[in-house]
Amino acid sequence: AESYVGFDSITSQIERKLLKRGFQFNVIVVGQTGLGKSTMINTIFASHLIDSKGRFASDEPVRQTTEIQAVSHVIVENGVKLRLNIVDTPGYGDQINNENCWDPIIKYIKDQHSAYLRKELTAMRDRYIQDTRIHCCLYFINPTGHSLRPIDVIVMKKLSEVVNVVPVIAKSDCLTIEERERFKLRIREELVYHNIRLYPFDTDEDDQDETQWNSDIRAVIPFAIVGSENNVIIDGKSVRGRKNRWGVVNVEDEAHCEFVHLRNFLTRTHLQDLIETTAQIHYEAFRSKQLLALKE
Ligand code: GDP
Ligand code: MG
Repeated sequence: AESYVGFDSITSQIERKLLKRGFQFNVIVVGQTGLGKSTMINTIFASHLIDSKGRFASDEPVRQTTEIQAVSHVIVENGVKLRLNIVDTPGYGDQINNENCWDPIIKYIKDQHSAYLRKELTAMRDRYIQDTRIHCCLYFINPTGHSLRPIDVIVMKKLSEVVNVVPVIAKSDCLTIEERERFKLRIREELVYHNIRLYPFDTDEDDQDETQWNSDIRAVIPFAIVGSENNVIIDGKSVRGRKNRWGVVNVEDEAHCEFVHLRNFLTRTHLQDLIETTAQIHYEAFRSKQLLALKE
């Protein structure tokens, strides 16, 4: 005990500094037109910003998305600041010829890597670099209950080379509970069959806990989600929901869909891991390729 110098307090110093700066987290939504991407962005923000005024509190309908566009909000929870940035993309795959329709999205993701690299090479090393790199790509799957479409396979494969891809079953209120479970299994089988490796990635350094943690989240993905831009009254409380002739889907009810699970995954349980994986795997791959090209 006499040799104690107290440098273990560095962890709380680092923590305090990091918490003060807060987190920057960037998500992109990708998928065919009409699968509810813009609605989902609205739902995610509304669920955090129930008291806030402005676009997300209003019942203004979601318009057709025509360009790649970021929506950003700061969420504060227990004094920790999270700047959540969600990039909306126009749907693709509705043209007769879908060849290379994913190019603008891949380009957008690579452009952010490139911008970060440029700042990294010029900025003073200790200065904080504004991070616009995409940490997670939510890939919206049509709730057909059958299988992935060929275009899903192609696009997810392309995306998985540059970003953490997390598939979601869009509009899962269209499927019965059994259909939903069967569809989930089917999607996982097809991803394996097509050799598409998605987030989370196992590494050799993983300990038992990390391996378990990865397989736990794999057992949920793809998240079966429901979005809504309207509030409904349930038990006297105003919540995001969808009202049908036969009842109401409460978006935030875990018995109805996995929206809350997805929100926790993004903003709580996997936030830091998605950020680290982006830096260590996707950005690093981009960076070494660029630097190698510079040398030649
Ligand atoms: P985007 O083209 O992917 O951005 O799709 P939009 O967000 O514009 O939504 C297209 C339509 O689907 C709108 O009429 C939404 O109200 C509806 N929609 C969005 N999410 C859901 C959902 O979870 N379930 C159902 N049944 N409809 C939804
Ligand atoms: Mg849209």
